[in-house]
Amino acid sequence: PLIRAQNAPVDAIPDAEFYKVEAILSVFFSYAGTIERNRPWRVQQVSSALLQMGIRGVTVSDVLGFGAQGGSTERHGGSEFSEDKLVAKVKMEIVVSKDQVEFVIDKIIEEARTGEIGDGKIFLIPVADVIRVRTGERGEKAERMTGGHADMSATTST
Ligand code: ATP
Ligand code: GLN
Repeated sequence: PLIRAQNAPVDAIPDAEFYKVEAILSVFFSYAGTIERNRPWRVQQVSSALLQMGIRGVTVSDVLGFGAQGGSTERHGGSEFSEDKLVAKVKMEIVVSKDQVEFVIDKIIEEARTGEIGDGKIFLIPVADVIRVRTGERGEKAERMTGGHADMSATTST
């Protein structure tokens, strides 16, 4: 079944023009007792789905993390990760205008979700401003991207 972020209107959180959607996604999984390293398809799938919909600004980093999941339920072969329970994850950061937040969250869930423990978490962070280094533009002018989601919806709705 399609899982969506449960009804949490973005109005319920500190108001800002822009938000950073920060997703910590798992890149490891265990299958039939073997440890599959890297689920690059997950990150790939999310970023290409976003790109297709005009979300063109994305920052991705390799991170280590631990949470309730620890290193046990999502097993890691007991090798290098067994001691500190740090698990390799990918962090995706996407800054968008307020009206695009729920769209981006739904896309991430749609593309990254397996339903297994360790699927990850999404954090939503208000962003005070955006500045484009090349031009010095701020705010909406800096956040907008040519051919981006806003441009795409403007063309399709008229
Ligand atoms: P230009 O001057 O034409 O805007 P640029 O190279 O300075 O080009 P971008 O390529 O748009 O700027 O962005 C630089 C980097 O900033 C990207 O590689 C990406 O990691 C990050 N980035 C840009 N926009 C966003 C965004 N909206 N959300 C998250 N990361 C972004
Ligand atoms: N909101 C921007 C736009 O519509 C896109 C931002 C992004 O790609 N992260 O142009």
